[in-house]
Amino acid sequence: MSVKEKKVPPKLNKYMHARNPYRTPPSFKKLASVYPEFRPYCSYDVGGKVHLDFKDPKALRALTTCLLHQDFDLKVTIPDDRLVPTLPLRLNYLLWIEDLLMHAAHCETSDVIVVVDIGTGASCVYPLLAARKLGWNLVATETDNINFTAATTNVNNNDLQDNIIVKKVDDKTVLQGVLDDADIHKQMYLKKKEVNDNNDDDDDDDDDEVMSELNNTPSDTPCKHTDGDDNKSMKYMFDFTMCNPPFFSSEEETDSMKKSKKQRGEPISSPTGCIHEKVTTGGEVTFITQMVEESHKFKSKVRIRSTRDGQGNYRT
Ligand code: SAH
Repeated sequence: MSVKEKKVPPKLNKYMHARNPYRTPPSFKKLASVYPEFRPYCSYDVGGKVHLDFKDPKALRALTTCLLHQDFDLKVTIPDDRLVPTLPLRLNYLLWIEDLLMHAAHCETSDVIVVVDIGTGASCVYPLLAARKLGWNLVATETDNINFTAATTNVNNNDLQDNIIVKKVDDKTVLQGVLDDADIHKQMYLKKKEVNDNNDDDDDDDDDEVMSELNNTPSDTPCKHTDGDDNKSMKYMFDFTMCNPPFFSSEEETDSMKKSKKQRGEPISSPTGCIHEKVTTGGEVTFITQMVEESHKFKSKVRIRSTRDGQGNYRT
């Protein structure tokens, strides 16, 4: 008798990127055998198959943190009442960005890629995965104190401070104060320069000149070094902005999440996260509109601007 291959339900698989490792679902049995903290949430049927209660937020948290460790060597702590990211979906977004950078923007795998993640959450999941799996550099923004502290701790616990800057931002803005932050520019410029221009041994004066220019450049004006540089990866300070915004305009509206998940074929898992992670004045339309308006001012500094929406679509 042939061994049956474990497959993702067709409806869900339709939404999985071809390179998403979770097209083959993780083995809960293996996870339970390796991670004692995962075991309390498992039940076993008569055939020995392991089941997880997707309605229990603690079970979801254990699943995500154990998978992050098992599959990406990431040690992540998520505070009790905060959003627990679903890894297959988070990977989809990153892999889609990777495709766009390679095919639309013609980036090389050796280029220094700088991505801005707006609203990184307590887990800091996109930056951690992108830094560890894809070698990118990231600026992660967050308005919430608890999420900011947890995200910073997660970055530090994985020794990724060199790749990821976590910035606490004001909730009145989305990109303003981030894309024009002189310290961020300096760190990312030096990273790009170090790798792309490592044969230039007389670059100290040049760097000073560029930094003084960056500090005095209005947000909508291209920088001299970005305009004139022939090197593709030096052309833009930021290669990509990404965002998984708060989708809802009210607590009541969050109930619609279950419905849209069902339509997308996702397992109906318990919603996690506190209210201000999911709700923003005016909902996602107002948030994304503000992001588009602000990002327009920085179009010369950002190669591709994107966001996820509440229907699970990715938009550039
Ligand atoms: N990126 C994470 C979290 C998404 S939830 C994930 O995908 O799992 C949305 C996050 O955006 C919340 O953590 C919320 O605190 C944060 N947020 C809300 N308004 C923001 C703003 N103006 N700038 C940055 N972050 C914001």
